[in-house]
Amino acid sequence: MAKKYDLVVVGGGTSGLEAAKIAAQNGLKVALLERKSHPAKVYRACAQMFLMNNDSFYNERMYFSREKKRWIFPVNNFSVPYKGAYREFYATHFIAPNAEDRIEIGDYEANASGRGIAAVVFDKVALLEGLFQEGLVAGVEYFLERNVVDARKTSEGVEVVTNHGEKLSGTFCIAADGINSRLARRLGLNQERTFLFTAQSVSYYVTGVKFDRSEMICMGNAFDHTTGGLGSVHFCMLPSVYRDDEYWLYVAGDERLEFFTKRSNFKKWFHNVEVTHKRCCVISAWSPAPEPYKGNVIFVGDSCWFAEAENTGALLSGHKAAHAVSKALHTGKANREGVTDYIDWWRRNWPETHDYKDFLCYPVFFRLFSEEELNYLHKIITQKLYWSLNPFNLYGHIMRGMQPHLDRIKKEKPALAQKLALFNPERTISMMKPATRVGFPGYC
Ligand SMILES: Cc1cc2nc3c(=O)[nH]c(=O)nc-3n(C[C@H](O)[C@H](O)[C@H](O)COP(=O)(O)OP(=O)(O)OC[C@H]3O[C@@H](n4cnc5c(N)ncnc54)[C@H](O)[C@@H]3O)c2cc1C
Repeated sequence: MAKKYDLVVVGGGTSGLEAAKIAAQNGLKVALLERKSHPAKVYRACAQMFLMNNDSFYNERMYFSREKKRWIFPVNNFSVPYKGAYREFYATHFIAPNAEDRIEIGDYEANASGRGIAAVVFDKVALLEGLFQEGLVAGVEYFLERNVVDARKTSEGVEVVTNHGEKLSGTFCIAADGINSRLARRLGLNQERTFLFTAQSVSYYVTGVKFDRSEMICMGNAFDHTTGGLGSVHFCMLPSVYRDDEYWLYVAGDERLEFFTKRSNFKKWFHNVEVTHKRCCVISAWSPAPEPYKGNVIFVGDSCWFAEAENTGALLSGHKAAHAVSKALHTGKANREGVTDYIDWWRRNWPETHDYKDFLCYPVFFRLFSEEELNYLHKIITQKLYWSLNPFNLYGHIMRGMQPHLDRIKKEKPALAQKLALFNPERTISMMKPATRVGFPGYC
C-alpha cells in the first residue's frame, strides 16, 4: 500500500527544497525524495553566481538583505534564508587569446568603487542547507538515498516508485529532478521537445591565482600551437566564494587545465596552482517543454527548461508551483485546471520572455573565429558595454557593441565581416547538433 501525501516532491535541489518547504508551510502533507544522502551535498558543477539588482531575470530582481540574511525576491514577494559567505564581483570580460585585449561588459571600476552595482558568488551548500532546515521545521518528510525510478498517473493522483521498491502516492507530484529529469522522460514530456545536445562539464577550484582586475567573470579561448596540440582551449573563470585566492575554473579536463595554467598566454595569472576540489556534471539539453505539466505532475527548475534555469529560476518556480498546488487542493481542483496559475506564470515569465536561442548564442559565436580574428575583435571594441549577467542578453550586448565598428571591419577584414553577417540565433541551434560538439561556458 503506497504511503499517501498531498504532495510528493522528487529531487532535493534548489527548486525541490523550496517547493516542499512552501507546501508544508501552507499546511500540506509533503514528502521529498532525494537520491543523495543529504540535499546540501553538492557534487554537480555550478558557478554559484546570482544575477542581482539591476538584472531582470524571469522578470524578478532579487537582492540580498545582510540584516535578515535572506535573498529577497521583491517582485514575487518572498525570501529565502542564506547564512553562507558571498563575494562581490564587478564585470564580465571576454578576453582575447593574447590575454590582453578584452570586451568589457560592465564598468569594473565604477562597480568596484560602489558607484555601480556588483554581482555576487554564493555558496550553494549554504543555500541548500538553509532551505532544508526551513523545510524540516515546516514538517517536510525527507526520504534520502531514494532514487525515483518511475512515476505514473493514478485515479487519485500520482504514484512514485523508488529503487528500494517503495511507493509513495501524492495528489500532486512536483518533478524537481534537474536537467536530466527521469520524470520528464518517463511521463512523455520529452516527446514534445527537440533534443539539442548532451554535454559534460568539469570545473576546478584552483588556488594560486593573481591578476589585475581579477574580481570578474572572464571567458575566452587560449590557443595551443604545438604539433598535435590541443588547438583552441575554451575557459571560463570567476572568483570562488571559499577563499580569496581561489577561482572557479572551467576547462574541459586535466590536459587543458595543465596547458591553460602552465603554458598558454594566460599562465601569467597562475602561480603554484593547486586544485582544491572538482565538480562535474552531464547535461542533456532539450528545447523548453510546451508547458510544465503532465498528468498531476508539475515540473520546476531545470527539469522542463532547455538548460540551467539557474538557482533564481529554480527558487521562483519551486515557490510558485507549491502555492499553485496548495490553492488547487484548497479549491478542490486536483487537476490541471487547479494549477493553471503556475502554468500561466511559467509561460509568461520563462519562454515568452526568454528565448533559449539567445542564451545559446554567445558561446557559439566566439567559436566561429580564428585566433587572429578574435584578437582583432577584442581590440576594436573599446567602449564598456551595458552591465548585465543575464545570459539571455549577453549576445545582444556584444552585437550592439560591434555595431559602430561594422564598416571598419568590412574594410579591414571582409571575411570576418561575412562571418558576422551570417551568424544569428537560429543558426546557433543547427551548430549545436550533437555531432559538432560545439559547447558553451561550463560545458564541452
Ligand atoms: C556548469 C554550470 C554552471 C552553472 N552556474 C550557475 C550560476 O552561476 N548561477 C546559478 O544560479 N546557476 C548556475 N547553474 C545552474 C544551476 O545549478 C541549476 O539551474 C539549478 O541547480 C537547478 O536547480 P534544480 O532544483 O532544478 O535542479 P538540481 O539542482 O539539479 O537538483 C536536482 C536534484 O534532484 C535529485 N535527483 C535527480 N534525479 C533524481 C531521482 N531520479 N530520484 C531522486 N532524486 C533525484 C538530484 O540529486 C538533485 O539533488 C549552473 C549549472 C552548470 C551545469
